[in-house]
Amino acid sequence: MALQRVLLLLRLLLCCYGDEEVLLNTKLVTSDLQWSVYPGSDPQWDEVSVLDDEHNTVRTFEICTPNSATYHWLRTNWVPRKTGTTLYVEIRFTMMECSSLNQRQCKETFTVFSYESDLATPSRGPLGPSPPESFQKVATVAADFLLRRGGDGARRSNTRLLRLDGVKKAGLYLAIQSQGTCMALLSLKVFYRKCPPLTVAFATFPETVPHSLVQQAVGVCVENAVTPPGEHTTLPSMLCGEDGQWAGLPSSSCSCRPGYEADGDARCRACPAGHFKPSSGLGTCTSCPDFSGTQVPGSAYCLCRHGYLRADSDSPSAACSKPPSAPRSPVAQLNSSLSLSLEWGPPLDFGGRSDVWYRVLCERCHDDVCSPCEGSVLIGPSTTVTQTRVMVMGLRPRALYVFTVQSLNGVSALSQSQPSAVRVNVTTNTNVPGLVSGLRRTSASETSLTLEWAPPSLIQNPDQTKTASRVLDYQLRYCPKQGEGSMQWQYVSSRGHSVVLLGLRRSTQYLVQVRARAVTGFGPFCAETSVSTLPEGQSHLVLIAVLVTMAILLLVGGAMVAALCYRRRTQRRPTRDKSSFQMNQNMTLYIDPFTYEDPELAVRQFTREIDASCVKIEEVIGAGEFGEVCRGRLHVPGRPQNYVAIKTLKGGYTDKQRRDFLSEASIMGQFQHPNIIHLEGVITSSCPAMILTEYMENGALDSFLRVNDGQFTGIQLVGMLRGIAAGMKYLSDMSYVHRDLAARNILVNANLVCKVSDFGLSRFLTENSSDPTYTSSLGGKIPIRWTAPEAIAYRKFTSASDAWSYGIVMWEVMSYGERPYWDMSNQDVINAIEQDYRLPPPTDCPAALHWLMLDCWQKERANRPRFCDVVSGLDRLIRNPASLKNTDSAHSSQPLLDQRPIARLSSCSSVSDWLRAIKMERYEQSFFQNGLCTLEEVSVLTTEDLLRAGVTLAGHQKKILSSIQTLRSSDQSHAPTLLY
Ligand code: AMP
Repeated sequence: MALQRVLLLLRLLLCCYGDEEVLLNTKLVTSDLQWSVYPGSDPQWDEVSVLDDEHNTVRTFEICTPNSATYHWLRTNWVPRKTGTTLYVEIRFTMMECSSLNQRQCKETFTVFSYESDLATPSRGPLGPSPPESFQKVATVAADFLLRRGGDGARRSNTRLLRLDGVKKAGLYLAIQSQGTCMALLSLKVFYRKCPPLTVAFATFPETVPHSLVQQAVGVCVENAVTPPGEHTTLPSMLCGEDGQWAGLPSSSCSCRPGYEADGDARCRACPAGHFKPSSGLGTCTSCPDFSGTQVPGSAYCLCRHGYLRADSDSPSAACSKPPSAPRSPVAQLNSSLSLSLEWGPPLDFGGRSDVWYRVLCERCHDDVCSPCEGSVLIGPSTTVTQTRVMVMGLRPRALYVFTVQSLNGVSALSQSQPSAVRVNVTTNTNVPGLVSGLRRTSASETSLTLEWAPPSLIQNPDQTKTASRVLDYQLRYCPKQGEGSMQWQYVSSRGHSVVLLGLRRSTQYLVQVRARAVTGFGPFCAETSVSTLPEGQSHLVLIAVLVTMAILLLVGGAMVAALCYRRRTQRRPTRDKSSFQMNQNMTLYIDPFTYEDPELAVRQFTREIDASCVKIEEVIGAGEFGEVCRGRLHVPGRPQNYVAIKTLKGGYTDKQRRDFLSEASIMGQFQHPNIIHLEGVITSSCPAMILTEYMENGALDSFLRVNDGQFTGIQLVGMLRGIAAGMKYLSDMSYVHRDLAARNILVNANLVCKVSDFGLSRFLTENSSDPTYTSSLGGKIPIRWTAPEAIAYRKFTSASDAWSYGIVMWEVMSYGERPYWDMSNQDVINAIEQDYRLPPPTDCPAALHWLMLDCWQKERANRPRFCDVVSGLDRLIRNPASLKNTDSAHSSQPLLDQRPIARLSSCSSVSDWLRAIKMERYEQSFFQNGLCTLEEVSVLTTEDLLRAGVTLAGHQKKILSSIQTLRSSDQSHAPTLLY
């Protein structure tokens, strides 16, 4: 660029010399000049023709009056000024030396005058004995060289250049006054200076006459050059100096327009055919991109060939492309209930683009007539996706669905033809119960409702037995009828066709719905029915209600006693809630600080008070519920200094907020485990109050994973999960239910050790918190995506609901911090879970880990793994890293929690033994109910048999079938005990 400017400057210096506009030049006049003289009698100015140095005849004037003091005037004719305002007068003359003439009156000077006039013929002559006032004196001129009488004969002439500034009128006269001189006026030239027309830097500047020291000239871009578009574009300009020379460099932003390239620095030439230049500027023409061309010279773009397109967002230099070919090999896999996963392969031909995505369309068909699926069918994460898989939920039973998967890219919308697509037909389970009908209120009191309904019509499929379609139970949901807004459904189950709802509000309308469940899953909910409780004062009805209540209580009590007895017989593991006080011998129970009458006492009991002078705050690292979270140093005398995280309580807090704030320390102070964040102490005796914990260099796990997407090995990820599970095992052993286990509440230190944190309860209680993760529900706030269904529905928070959340954390970790259920709304998540939809395995997730997630997301909370099971399962995985390689859950037969030796078929004495050995004892009862009582019967079991026996989870089916397979083959080959 700099070199270019230097070259330009050189060019200007060399070529742009000044120009003159000559107004009068006596040398060029061949006829009589006929200037005015005064006086008109001898001696006077005489016009004489002589030969000049080049032997041309020129007109001169001579006068010689050395002995007279009289003025002798010589006046030119009128000289037009044209556009000049600064005129130059060049006078060439010779003059005799006075001393050689020896005359007293003799002078060696003459004076030049000027007179401006708009008219070519002034009305009266300006000449007279003395200069008229209207004439301005220009200069008195003396000779440099004088001639001597009888000298050496050399004719030595003088040249003078006079300057007339600010000439305004249309022209002027010049007059020469001599007084006793003896001289000859050889020539007189009048001219002005001007800068010649110039083309430089793709701009043309016109001929410019300088009217001052420098004159700005405005130019225009040369042909096929333009200035950049925009409001502030300035026209090209250049300075013309008073000497008639262009000064400096042009300020020009002209450049060759699209389709044209520079030819030198002054011309633009058209791009040849087959070439293009997309924008104005210095660039050169290039050949057309792939699949495009142009026949026309000067093209700014190349047209796409037939069948190829260019998207609006594509640059003109991008190759033309076409829509992708169809997706390949679609596979729809129905889950046990009314949801399915739909997968396909990417198209063979991406159309020359990388921006391929897919659109999934759903139609429901009946008697060859198809219409778009109803709104209740959810396609997740969205109907348009970039990955090759979606989940579909909310399907109806016994229906034919046609799914069309289109592949699209950036030019599909421009194409005339339909996007390439594949179709897949899916018929939903014919065994799912149909709609329950006739839901109605049979009796009511002020606080209760008795409801009844008719069983669903079950379509009998010839290749299914009656058992498959038998209704196991009914699920009824109800909620007060309000205006707009999300409904907070409460759920109850019933084995019969009626239910009594208790503890309702007086004189309130409730919406109720009921659906039937068979071994194959739930049928659809029936339409909402509105029923109301009675107003106050209808005592006879209250009495009936009391009686019904008592009867129900007796029934429920009886059922509970029976269930407990049954559990004692069949289950070895106890369920562990806060109410359960069955403890390991060395374990202490967690104590809720809010059970203290004076919560300060709990703070004193469970935390260590630290002197504020031992703490140095260094930097703010986050925002907590109550104030800033900082990093600092703690230096307690006699102990090594260490980094700490400091949670502060911001000013203006209420007593209750202070109590809530410190309650987290009272809880944390009770824990001592390498995977639980360690409390260093608290500062309560000075302001602000602070909670000091160990410092975790890598901060919260969710953001840490997002920042390090794809950076860890499988073993590293499993190691993190193992740490979290170990911390949760410790908490559940202490009977502490976390209620907010999520990756955002796990902290990571420099060694990738994960520790469970966030023991504050306030988030669940603060109504005005704006964090959208927490949804208000009756009696508190709930992080819906992480929370087990029973905790959402009726606030049943247990270690088993923590296990559900742990499954979600596993998913977050394996997907490097992806948001669970992506952008589905909270209500959609609740609905999807209710319809047995579960998160699919994240990309590259080992199958064994997804199995474990699915176990954590069992609807029945008693069936979820305990944290001790999770820890030992993950330990096994870490010991056997090869098992992490299998990411195909469809073909994995090794669920994580069951990798233990089992007995051979012959060594199992009964079906119960066998089910216990493979940890499927939960199905014992339904096996017996469905006639699977002997090992012989079990050894020929099929998937249909399993469905009938209520084994609806695909994972459990696989586990049982592969066990039978292994047992069969081990029996045949007499192989030793196999590992699961
Ligand atoms: P919290 O109020 O516990 O949710 O903390 C808010 C944020 O502060 C967290 O998301 C972390 O980024 C950061 N933080 C909290 N405690 C620690 C700690 N012990 N070490 C490092 N960062 C922390």
